Amino acid sequence: QNGACKTVLAGSIAKSLLAEVQEGLKTIDRPPRLYGFLANKDPAARMYADWTAKTCKENGFDFILKEVEREDLEDEIRSANNDDDADGMIVYYPVFDSTRDRTLQWTVNMYKDVEGLSPQLISNMYQNIRFLDPPTNLKKSILPCTPLAVIKILEHLHIYNTFLDYGKRLFGRRITVINRSEVVGRPLAALLANDGAEVYSVDVTGVQHFSRGSGLRNQKHEVRDMEGWGLEQCLPISEVVISGVPGDKYKVPTNLIREGAVCINFSSEKNFNPDVKEKASIYVPAIGKVTIVILLRNLLRIVQNRPSTNAP
Ligand code: NAD
Repeated sequence: QNGACKTVLAGSIAKSLLAEVQEGLKTIDRPPRLYGFLANKDPAARMYADWTAKTCKENGFDFILKEVEREDLEDEIRSANNDDDADGMIVYYPVFDSTRDRTLQWTVNMYKDVEGLSPQLISNMYQNIRFLDPPTNLKKSILPCTPLAVIKILEHLHIYNTFLDYGKRLFGRRITVINRSEVVGRPLAALLANDGAEVYSVDVTGVQHFSRGSGLRNQKHEVRDMEGWGLEQCLPISEVVISGVPGDKYKVPTNLIREGAVCINFSSEKNFNPDVKEKASIYVPAIGKVTIVILLRNLLRIVQNRPSTNAP
């Protein structure tokens, strides 16, 4: 039986974003160059690095992989900060797999940070400050890759209503995000709420509600704890369900998902059961390919944001 659900693969969304990136490349005079720092033996990190290299090569970006000892990494980052040859850099985490990794994130110059993890960029994101150069507002702040990938997917699927003004295009949408990690789930919930959505952010400790309030009266989102709430309360009222729980055990209960919901999985494992297609209107089983394109898009934006005095 052919259900009504459309399965949308990340590759097809990545392709349309790449076309936009290609247009942007025409406006600059040399290929942007990305340094990738690999200082661990994690096979997932190696795969991500290989994948970055391949995507860069296929799309006219320069990628230089720097394999370094982890004790040397901080100095390496500092020297790349001052190296005109590197337009941007990415560090493959985890390096120390402790809070020490945060020191590495803080060492990356924010004008070279394609991952959007610098303190100023993170602070801009949570405060809904979208430009680096107010009030001129020509230079957009850089957003973290995976949350931005999810947003670009929602735009592609027309969950963002372009009839509404920029910054309010999710007004009226209710979205559940299962995962509240500092790298993906919490920034994603904040970004969606800043764009006008009501977001239910779910993790092992419970549910939080992210919203700009009635009529979007607040300039940025506010967060409150939803005592006694669980998926039983969130899923039946959510038009969009985004899940990113690590491990292969976790499954979003299909019976709670709202009829016709849009379901997006960003976990490396499958968080949705195959029967999700009997409930969902759109199912996106993985997003990795979009994330890599966002990396290139961020790099391009960094080059375009550069003060003209530093231009080559
Ligand atoms: P993490 O371990 O830091 O965070 C996991 C989050 O899931 C936490 O908020 C935790 O509370 C929550 N969680 C765990 N079990 C839960 C449960 N039963 N119910 C509700 N919430 C639960 O992981 P992370 O770095 O956020 O990565 C999560 C997943 O996303 C991983 O599989 C990772 O590989 C993947 N990932 C994908 C991309 C991509 O671009 N596709 C990028 C980054 C991470």
